[in-house]
Amino acid sequence: MLIDTYGRVATDLRVSLTDRCNLRCTYCMPEEGLRWLAKPDLLSDEEIVRLVRVAVTRLGITEVRFTGGEPLLRPGLVSVVERCAALEPRPRTSLTTNGIGLKRTAAALKAAGLDRVNVSLDTLRPDVFRTLTRRDRHQDVLDGLAAAHEAGLTPVKVNSVLMPGLNDDEAPDLLAWAVEHGYELRFIEQMPLDAQHGWKRDGMITAVDILASLRTRFTLTAEDEDARGSAPAERWSVDGGPHRVGVIASVTRPFCRACDRTRLTADGQVRTCLFAREETDLRGALRSGASDEEIAGIWKTAMWGKKAGSGLDDPAFLQPDRPMSAIGG
Ligand code: SAM
Ligand code: SF4
Repeated sequence: MLIDTYGRVATDLRVSLTDRCNLRCTYCMPEEGLRWLAKPDLLSDEEIVRLVRVAVTRLGITEVRFTGGEPLLRPGLVSVVERCAALEPRPRTSLTTNGIGLKRTAAALKAAGLDRVNVSLDTLRPDVFRTLTRRDRHQDVLDGLAAAHEAGLTPVKVNSVLMPGLNDDEAPDLLAWAVEHGYELRFIEQMPLDAQHGWKRDGMITAVDILASLRTRFTLTAEDEDARGSAPAERWSVDGGPHRVGVIASVTRPFCRACDRTRLTADGQVRTCLFAREETDLRGALRSGASDEEIAGIWKTAMWGKKAGSGLDDPAFLQPDRPMSAIGG
């Protein structure tokens, strides 16, 4: 098991497949100038599958989520998913994506064994989308979402980040749209993980703001705390159900005590937390001939050192060197 000194057990693995992306969301990446990981430093498809196999067969991982950067940009994605979904015991598999290109690949991903997708969409307005992501791809995301739903990659979840002055008035519209299309919407508080280190605590839209905005149009009823388990989202039923909405309040209501995550970057580093400042190299071990047992041992040691919390509440909090796109969000 991947247990830490606080008794938490990691069963959920986030695998970043690339640090590259075809969007430039303002809260994530600068317009230009971000340096990409060098090709030889990236794990190959075989190396990724081997590390996932070690995690699933030796370390108790039951859930594998592929992310990035934009994971749909990885040419070998379908095959990686297929090989990971074929592991015994079979892990649950999901993908976090901006949805561009999903129209083309949704059916193949489903056939490969992918269970679900989370698609990120912050706005229903094409002009705001262009400002927020610096690209004109709004319709591609909507098409990708529809294709995922049709392919049965359900429940399709939609992740939205609200940015002041841009889309902070859109929470109720986004929820009405999600309910209409059968998507499960989750708002994510903006976190200090942008490459340009521009995050400001007093400039962010908080869970309290989001809920107040939603309540201007909907009746929200909090779900039982027990039902939440280790899920980062707090959830509310909408107008008596069955539709739900979630808020991931990593900044104002951190959920570190129930965290069950371990992370693998595209260049083969284990991270115990999104906000960790330390990483543990698995790629080096892998490439110097370590056995599965040795790799599992290194991973266990890394997780044993997981800190109690993200440190966001500490005035001395220092943003990690790597941005969200390189860690794998
Ligand atoms: N490119 C894919 C996407 O956008 O879904 C996967 C990677 S992205 C880093 C994963 C999630 O992180 C997205 O839902 C995105 O909105 C979110 N994200 C990125 N930067 C963030 C930040 N600074 N604060 C909160 N969420 C962020
Ligand atoms: Fe790309 Fe996702 Fe970051 Fe947006 S949030 S720039 S889609 S990695």
